[in-house]
Amino acid sequence: MENKGINRAGREYILIYSETIDWDLCIGCGNCVRVCGQDVYVMVNTSQGQKADNPNKDRCLGDGHCYQACPTRAIKFKRALE
Ligand code: SF4
Repeated sequence: MENKGINRAGREYILIYSETIDWDLCIGCGNCVRVCGQDVYVMVNTSQGQKADNPNKDRCLGDGHCYQACPTRAIKFKRALE
């Protein structure tokens, strides 16, 4: 697992990998589904309403687009070891 990426400006950033979603925080906005280019996320119907799930988290490239897109910090991440 890589621990650093390089953005278009040539700057390094720490890779973070989608791990779990806190349904108490998820408001079901679907931003994570829209921004993820790897189809990590899907929306599911739960007893708490529509929530995000990440059944394809093994596809995560760690770029953090969903971190930036999630308004409630519902997505929990793991970092690669240095
Ligand atoms: S972006 Fe965050 S709040 Fe919105 S559906 Fe995804 S996990 Fe839930």
